[in-house]
Amino acid sequence: MHRLFVAIRPPQPIRDLLIDAMDDSPALRWVGDDNLHLTLRFIGEVERPLADDVAAALGRIRFPGFALRISGVGRFEQRSGGALWAGVDPRKPVAELAAKVDRACVAAGLEPERRAFHPHVTLARFGRRNAAAARDFERRNADLESEPWAVTRFILFESQLSRHGAHYEEVADYALG
Ligand code: ATP
Ligand code: MG
Repeated sequence: MHRLFVAIRPPQPIRDLLIDAMDDSPALRWVGDDNLHLTLRFIGEVERPLADDVAAALGRIRFPGFALRISGVGRFEQRSGGALWAGVDPRKPVAELAAKVDRACVAAGLEPERRAFHPHVTLARFGRRNAAAARDFERRNADLESEPWAVTRFILFESQLSRHGAHYEEVADYALG
C-alpha cells in the first residue's frame, strides 16, 4: 500500500520565514523544513494500480499558475491535541486547484473529499496538555506574512510513517500554467 497526498511545496525563502517564526518551545513539536507543505488532497492508503490511475488523472489537470502568500497563523484542536498552522492568501485559486485535484481523484476511482478545504501549512503539533503554548504562539504570530510566491507546480507525495515521524517522498510533480 502507498500512503499518498497531493500538496504544494513552498519555496525555500518562504520555508525560511516559517522556520524563523518557530521558537524553542518544547511543548510544540515543530515540522522540519523537508516536511513543510500545503495539502491539496489527502488520498490515504491505496494499492499500486489505483495510485497509477491517480497519478495519470493528476497529469490531465490544466490550471494556471497563481501567487500565494503566507498570511496569519491558526490552530486545529482535537481531543488528543492539535496542529498549529500558517494560513495563506488568497484562498480562492488554491481552493479551485484543490477542487480540480479532488475531481481528478474521483475520476481515478477515489471517493470525493467530504470535508471542507482549509488551506494551511502545518507548523507544529501539540498534545492536549500543551494547547496553551499553541494559543500563545498563535497570539504572538497573528501578523505572520510573507511576500507572495509563484505557485508553478503541485506534487504527489508518498508519506512513510514511522516512530521517527513522517517522511515524504515526491512521487510525481505537475506543472501549472
Ligand atoms: P503524522 O501523521 O506522523 O503526524 P503527517 O500528518 O505529516 O505525519 P500523514 O498523516 O501521512 O503525515 O499526512 C500527510 C498530509 O496529509 C498532512 O498534511 C496531513 O495533515 C494530511 N492528512 C493526513 N490525514 C488526513 C485526513 N484524514 N484528512 C485530511 N488530511 C489529512
Ligand atoms: Mg497524519
